[in-house]
Amino acid sequence: MLSPIMVSPRCTVSPAVEPALELVRKYNIPGPRYTSYPTAPQFSDAIDRTALLTEVKRDNADGSTPFSLYFHLPFCESLCWYCGCNTVITRRLASAGEYVDLLIKELELTAPLLDTRRPVTQLHFGGGTPTFLPPVEIDRLARAIHGIFTFSADAEISVEIDPRRLTKEHVAAFRRLGCNRASLGVQDTNPEVQVAIHRWQPLALTKQAVDWLREAGYQSVSIDLIYGLPLQTNASFAKSLDEVIALNPDRLAVFSYAHVPWIKPAQKIFDDRQQLPTTEEKLAMLSTATHRLVAAGYAQVGMDHFARPEDELAIAFAEGTLHRNFQGYTTRAGASLYGFGMSSISQTDGSFRQNYKDLPEYADAITAGRLPIERGYLLTEDDQRRRTIITDIMCARSIDFARLSQQLGLDFATTFAAELGGLGDLEADGLLTRREDGIEITPLGRLFVRIIAMRFDAHLSKQRTGFSKVV
Ligand code: SF4
Repeated sequence: MLSPIMVSPRCTVSPAVEPALELVRKYNIPGPRYTSYPTAPQFSDAIDRTALLTEVKRDNADGSTPFSLYFHLPFCESLCWYCGCNTVITRRLASAGEYVDLLIKELELTAPLLDTRRPVTQLHFGGGTPTFLPPVEIDRLARAIHGIFTFSADAEISVEIDPRRLTKEHVAAFRRLGCNRASLGVQDTNPEVQVAIHRWQPLALTKQAVDWLREAGYQSVSIDLIYGLPLQTNASFAKSLDEVIALNPDRLAVFSYAHVPWIKPAQKIFDDRQQLPTTEEKLAMLSTATHRLVAAGYAQVGMDHFARPEDELAIAFAEGTLHRNFQGYTTRAGASLYGFGMSSISQTDGSFRQNYKDLPEYADAITAGRLPIERGYLLTEDDQRRRTIITDIMCARSIDFARLSQQLGLDFATTFAAELGGLGDLEADGLLTRREDGIEITPLGRLFVRIIAMRFDAHLSKQRTGFSKVV
């Protein structure tokens, strides 16, 4: 084993990572995470709402496409300073019941537009903190959802869990609703980092949450970590990884911290204190995470996920059926997404709709009996093609000319000759290799998969400044 090279007192980088350092300096520019294409900054509030609703009608015309449902539950009792989510910080418990009233009204306004015989194959509760809702409100929301929709027998029903705000009764209530998957926000187990990010979460709480979920019969438990947070070092993050691996989660997501203080002003506190790791340190942490998780038996899936080889996410990746949506990687491709709650996004084949991001505006629209659409987007044929290509890059880490030609009904290599011709620098730097009939992203190129996808993004020149850096 080669000895590590000292880069700074806070970080060591193994020689295996070293070639990537120069490339990170070269390619570490702001870029989208491509949970959608086109990305959300393209949505417009000047959109024709009638045209959006025509798309909803079209989506419900044939009755065969499944539903993927999303409910945004925005409340949190305190703000984690790194947070990039759409949240409402409050300790006012009555907010929960009032918000469930609004969600039920939104369901009632939306249901007449839908063919509710279509099966639901996926339902996700995100936040915010879904367990801000007391169990009685979770049950009330469950009755409303199950009163409208029909679920497939193998539906994936998942909830985001904050172990600090969880009781056994919450676990049971979401299980009664049908939840079979949970993802736990952990980020880092180091107490110093937790203080620096304003998220104090003893490991015992996380372990207790995992135990409760397993006892209650949740099939899959996932843990989210973030690298690049204040005070993190390669050594401290390695310890966090070991502590989390010992909890034996089925999946892990290891996200790069997105520092966007111009969008999330609370993050400015990290600039003032100069506590953020450097890009080199972040790269070392990513390398450590990848090595430790692979050594522990996890398969790397897509850009930032890891899963047990027997987990359906790892199987979908191996079989080339992995998909990507606003919640990240998913095994449920081909569903239309219907979002409920403030800031939630809905997606049909030809459109995106986003609800008001602001709670009072969302509540006003619902109370007035209007769908709370703030902005949206109608996809062109070119958007739809590029969405397919970018999804392949993000999910399969390859471009198969024959498959895309057949899927898109064109000669892929000819139609996208300019984009393919513009990949020379990435090929020269070893991020991808070309075959006669396609392109493969190399293990080194996995770090820069967003950069590769960006080469096929037709909207990017107009919007680049709003994104976080790719590493
Ligand atoms: S609990 Fe989650 S959603 Fe709430 S502030 Fe913290 S990171 Fe953001």
